[in-house]
Amino acid sequence: MHKIIDGKAHSRGIRQEIAQGVQQFKQQYGKEIGLAVVLVGDDGASQVYVRNKIKGCEEVGIKSFAYYLPADASQAQVEELVSELAVNDAVHGILVQLPLPEGLDAQRILSLIPVSKDVDGFCESNIGSLCLNRPCLVACTPNGVMKMLEREGIEIKGKNAVVVGRSNIVGKPMAMLLLNADATVTVCHSKTQNLKEICSKADILVAAIGRAKFITADMVKEGAVVIDVGMNRDENGKLCGDVDYENVREKCSYITPVPGGVGPMTITMLLYNTLEAAKRSV
Ligand code: NDP
Repeated sequence: MHKIIDGKAHSRGIRQEIAQGVQQFKQQYGKEIGLAVVLVGDDGASQVYVRNKIKGCEEVGIKSFAYYLPADASQAQVEELVSELAVNDAVHGILVQLPLPEGLDAQRILSLIPVSKDVDGFCESNIGSLCLNRPCLVACTPNGVMKMLEREGIEIKGKNAVVVGRSNIVGKPMAMLLLNADATVTVCHSKTQNLKEICSKADILVAAIGRAKFITADMVKEGAVVIDVGMNRDENGKLCGDVDYENVREKCSYITPVPGGVGPMTITMLLYNTLEAAKRSV
């Protein structure tokens, strides 16, 4: 019997806790918590993400500052804005929506975000701290996965965890978080041999690949916990994950659906990180 992990319900619960934390912060320090969101250009998907982030802020009582720059903004313009936000005391977190338009050096722009305001958890220093298992701002999507596992009471210690995908924003931090939680972790990627064999030994299988329904039932161990980070479109244009959900779910003890699994947790963890950043700033 499998259990579907309801990311929306977890997200709602965590947002309530964040809203309480934000309220407490305001009472204790007499000031608001602020998140600056920078969007360059007019990419449709990015506009939706930014809107949802601003809506999330409103929901938990975080003040949002949105900056919209045109697609032809120069490197100097974007750098100047981020540098101003870096020293603005009303701003506790800075988020530069990726991808940036071609021609802009994203790495240089991101490097201007101080580690203490890096609510995406992408900067080298936060990633280094994660590797050293020290307190830091952790990338939102993998941190959201950990929160869901924790809230479901799923044991990680001593388990075989397999992460498929090694991107800097999902796969690598995911593997590090599982390792820090005492799992035995294997990271797979496009050059991995015997992927099926490795996956089928996983007690906890995390798919962060970006290929529709790639993880099939024969790759999954009976009773495994399956976490699907993927967000793809299937042949009919319908949103789907990296896991062949319909066929895999019967084999699992727990599984996250797409949509409604990992996705809703990502913005919630951004709000969580903004509250964390504010608490550390005082
Ligand atoms: P990337 O494209 O950066 O990384 C994909 C990873 O999958 C790479 O490490 C790649 O290996 C690996 N991979 C590709 N093909 C194979 C294969 N045939 N076998 C094994 N591994 C393979 O993607 P992201 O990490 O950014 O995102 C992954 C998915 O998660 C996407 O669907 C994305 O939309 C989704 N996503 C969802 C979020 C959410 O909030 N729910 C947030 C962020 C992402 P290699 O390194 O060798 O190329």
